[in-house]
Amino acid sequence: MGLNSVAIDGPSGAGKSTLARRAAQALGYLYVDTGAIYRALGLFALERGADPADEAAVEALLPQAEIRMEHGGDGTQRMYLCGEDVTEAIRRPEVSRAASLVSAIPAVRAYLLEMQRDLARRHDVVMDGRDIGTVVLPQATVKIFLTASPEARARRRYKELEERGLSQPYEKVLSDIVERDRKDTTRETAPLRQAEDAAVVDTTSLDLEESFQALLERIKGGLGR
Ligand code: C5P
Repeated sequence: MGLNSVAIDGPSGAGKSTLARRAAQALGYLYVDTGAIYRALGLFALERGADPADEAAVEALLPQAEIRMEHGGDGTQRMYLCGEDVTEAIRRPEVSRAASLVSAIPAVRAYLLEMQRDLARRHDVVMDGRDIGTVVLPQATVKIFLTASPEARARRRYKELEERGLSQPYEKVLSDIVERDRKDTTRETAPLRQAEDAAVVDTTSLDLEESFQALLERIKGGLGR
C-alpha cells in the first residue's frame, strides 16, 4: 500500500495547526506545519537585517538559511535555524509579517518546495499550509480547505496572544488578519485558494472540539476509513 497524504489549506487563524496536529496524531501520521518553514526564513531575514519584501536580498540569503525540522513522537514539530531552536521565536507577530512577505517571493517557494515534497515521499503526512493541495501535493489523498470568518479567527488569535503574554488590541489583530488574507490571496505566486477537489470545513460557529470532529470525519471519509 502506498503512502497517504492529507493536505490542509486555509487562511491564518482558522485553527489549522492545532487541528492538523491532532488529526495527524489520531491517524498516526507525521504532522508537517509548512508555515513554520516560511516563518523560520522570515526570522532569518529579520536577524540578518534584510527587508523581507526585498526579493533580491532574501534570495541572496537562501543558501545560508539552514532550516531543519525535527518531529517528536507526540506530534510536536521543532524548528531549527542554523542550529538554533527557533520554535517559539517564529511565533512573534513581527515574524508573522516577515513570513507573509518572504513567502510571496517565487524563488523562496521554489527553494522550499522540494523540502516539503520529500517529507510526503517518505511518510504518511498531514501537511498544513496555503498551497499544499494546489501546488505542493496536487495528488494528495485527501484535501481539506479549513476556514472561518475573519472575526472568528481574530477572536481566537487575540486569546492566543493574550495567553502567551503578547497581548494586542483586538482591532489590531483583526486588521492584521484581514491584511494577511489580502496578501495571501492576491499574490502572484501560489496564492491561497481552495483546490477544486478540496472539502470545505468551516469552523466559524464550532468550538475547538467540534472543529476537530468535523475535520477528522472529513479526513477519514476521504481515506476510506
Ligand atoms: O500558517 P502560518 O501563519 O504559520 O504561515 C505564515 C505565513 O507563511 C503566512 O502568512 C503565509 O503567507 C505563508 N505560508 C505560505 N505557504 C504555506 C504556509 C505558509 O505562503 N504553505
